Amino acid sequence: MTTKQPGVEPQQTPESLDECRRCALWEHATQAVPGKGPRHAPMMIVGEQPGDQEDLQGKPFVGPAGAMLDRALAEAGVARKEVYVTNAVKHFKWEPRGKRRLHKTPAQREIDACHYWLDRETGDVAPKVIVALGSTALKSVLRDSKATLQASMGHAIEQEGHAIVATYHPSFALRAPDPETRERAYKAIVDALREAHRLVGHHRKER
Ligand code: SF4
Repeated sequence: MTTKQPGVEPQQTPESLDECRRCALWEHATQAVPGKGPRHAPMMIVGEQPGDQEDLQGKPFVGPAGAMLDRALAEAGVARKEVYVTNAVKHFKWEPRGKRRLHKTPAQREIDACHYWLDRETGDVAPKVIVALGSTALKSVLRDSKATLQASMGHAIEQEGHAIVATYHPSFALRAPDPETRERAYKAIVDALREAHRLVGHHRKER
């Protein structure tokens, strides 16, 4: 079967993530990093792409950003084991800096190519609420390359039977140059997770 999307070369539909060649990111990554969590979790959290640690371990959000996400989830009263966690792009995009591998933001064509996998996960998990962490996740989840965090934060967006809550990526809260911005970003993440948790409860009552 051939799948065509804007900016994505027509190609065979891959059988598995490890076999995926829908874009070139697989070439320099250790492995593809699939999402993780309960099959029918009511909340799905979508990040940008695996980082250095995630690439090596093959699991999402296990590096420093993952530790911050764990802290924010605990503060918001959400158990991580009840959440499905994944990324918009499944292979680590990086550039060498000395002996280190530095994160590089995925291009729109790579986000589009990898949306194939996010779509499958969203269909399988069927979450009530999706939390988009950062601009890449938001663009992928909304399927809108022009979507911005600024315009989307602070209110839930209803789409195809689930609510989308947008906030900063934990990496931004870790790396912002000044402590005030870091603190503000972290608080926004906690607030967004709290709101997502509330919306999950709201959806449960409606059933
Ligand atoms: S980043 Fe996504 S689309 Fe690109 S090769 Fe990896 S799994 Fe496939």
